[in-house]
Amino acid sequence: PEDKAVILNSIRDIPDFPQPGIIFKDITTLLSNPKAFDTLMNHLEARYKNYELDYIAGIDARGFIFGAVLADRLNIGFVPVRKKGKLPYTTVAEKYSLEYGFDEVEIHIDAFGENGSCSREEPSKVLLIDDLMATGGTAKAAASLIDKVGAKCVEACFIMELTFLNGRGCFDIPVYSVLQID
Ligand code: 5GP
Repeated sequence: PEDKAVILNSIRDIPDFPQPGIIFKDITTLLSNPKAFDTLMNHLEARYKNYELDYIAGIDARGFIFGAVLADRLNIGFVPVRKKGKLPYTTVAEKYSLEYGFDEVEIHIDAFGENGSCSREEPSKVLLIDDLMATGGTAKAAASLIDKVGAKCVEACFIMELTFLNGRGCFDIPVYSVLQID
């Protein structure tokens, strides 16, 4: 609880970004605060150290920061899930709806090893991470990409969850959030 307050207090609210009426949760002030960043990473490391994960997959772009640090702490690999058109090798893509229109995320077809496995016996165990879950659409698409390339997404993890949007309702895998915003 004390730790969570340190993390929560390091995140600032920016009204009317990127559009009028939206209060944007700005995590740049968490990243620039070494105590808050370290407290967060200690919390995530403690939670996931016994999950026997093979990879962390982070969502473009803020999920890369938390995901890469966590992967290094757990001594496992990091895989980026990117917005369409950024990855250089063969990709698998998944579209998801936005309030107006759609967006698309991609992953390298061999991101978790040949057929999604390094051992060739069982699928790689992957933790998906992003900074914030709103509707859950982005992370749901990312989780289905992990499945599509033959790995297993064992949990979706967020620093913040906007609980009033009930994004976790669209997942059939466990969802964990460090901070719940209502
Ligand atoms: P969703 O697909 O769950 O509706 O939206 C989540 C995606 O939008 C995440 O990739 C997240 O980074 C971004 N996002 C939406 N609102 C915010 C916000 O207030 N703060 C931050 N940091 N990211 C947001």
